[in-house]
Amino acid sequence: MTNANNWKLNTKVVKIEHEDGNHASIPPIYQSTTFKAKNMDEMGQYDYTRSGNPTRTTLQEHLAKIIGCETVWAVNSGMSALDIIARLIKPGEHVVAGDDLYGGTQRLLTFLNTNGGANVSHIDLTNLDLVKKTITKDTAVVFLESPTNPLIKVVDLKSIADYAHSMNPNALVVFDNTMMTPLLMKPLELGADIQYESATKYLNGHHDIMAGIIATNSEDLAKRLFFVINSIGSGLAPFDSWLLLRGLKTLSLRLERQQSNALKLATWLQGQGLKVRYPGLKDHPQYELHHSQCKGDGAVLSFETGDLKTSEKIIAEVELYAITVSFGAVNSLISLPCKMSHAAIDPKVRAERDFPEDLIRICVGIEDVDDLIDDLNNALKKAGVVKN
Ligand SMILES: *Cc1c(COP(=O)(O)O)cnc(C)c1O
Repeated sequence: MTNANNWKLNTKVVKIEHEDGNHASIPPIYQSTTFKAKNMDEMGQYDYTRSGNPTRTTLQEHLAKIIGCETVWAVNSGMSALDIIARLIKPGEHVVAGDDLYGGTQRLLTFLNTNGGANVSHIDLTNLDLVKKTITKDTAVVFLESPTNPLIKVVDLKSIADYAHSMNPNALVVFDNTMMTPLLMKPLELGADIQYESATKYLNGHHDIMAGIIATNSEDLAKRLFFVINSIGSGLAPFDSWLLLRGLKTLSLRLERQQSNALKLATWLQGQGLKVRYPGLKDHPQYELHHSQCKGDGAVLSFETGDLKTSEKIIAEVELYAITVSFGAVNSLISLPCKMSHAAIDPKVRAERDFPEDLIRICVGIEDVDDLIDDLNNALKKAGVVKN
């Protein structure tokens, strides 16, 4: 007897369960905003797509199986997921967050801090002593993300979640799992109350939709989150839900190749004498911590060349890597964070946070790794970083 609950994750991502009267082998798209009632006394499960849609439900239930949690809500972007969660904060409440967060997260939390009345402390979450000094019995929410990017700093989720809950049992520990995906990290099992992800990245994997997901095991939180989603209308659209279901089927296959390519590329770059940041490299300062909470290393890495002009030259010379923000797509991407994703952060603040201006970020795709290395090698040669 097979037992669907015991299937391995690699199987679960492919096996989408759905009900459809015509026995379509893949879930159909319910591209409809309204659903008819039989009569005034018998309203069906669905009435209006803002409140619920069968394609979105199929996606949410599929994700809940992959994550191994009670409830998942699919919404229209990663930032929208954060906004929905942030609406649980009451004016003036104390919030603790990292100082090396995703730029959009930083922007929204800063907005809340100045306009919405939340009182946000941004700290280096890799410093546990500082974390313990900052989290108090009045801390309502802690926002975490690991590994951060592009600095690839690892945050100890379990220790911070345990500490926050010991200070305030009602504190909400919220974890952004975009970089690792449910296949490599299980934040809810490590103590997070809410896990959210930008599904725009690995979950979808093809850079063709924006989406976000929010996961929790708490019935109460699930209800409060749904209230916000339904009130503001941020549920994921049917067509985008359908595309995300399609993308998810190859998640484990894509990640497997992306991670093996990333490790080879990181090792090769290191062999060229460059300072490389990737949690899969044994000399990453938090290698042990990362592997105590994750099953893999993801496919985002960064390296320094020692000089901004050299980095710009490398980026100008590569042919295979697209120069773009974001990550998680099947094709490889390259960027200069200080001029792109992190340009909005004051250069002084970047310097304070030891953010190298010459840092190049690479998000590794599924191409043949020999081509990825050759292309980068040519660019490094033209930029004078390597000689042969
Ligand atoms: C992209 C990203 C987000 C925001 O998600 P969107 O889908 O772009 O709104 C949040 N957190 C991390 C870590 C991200 O990389």
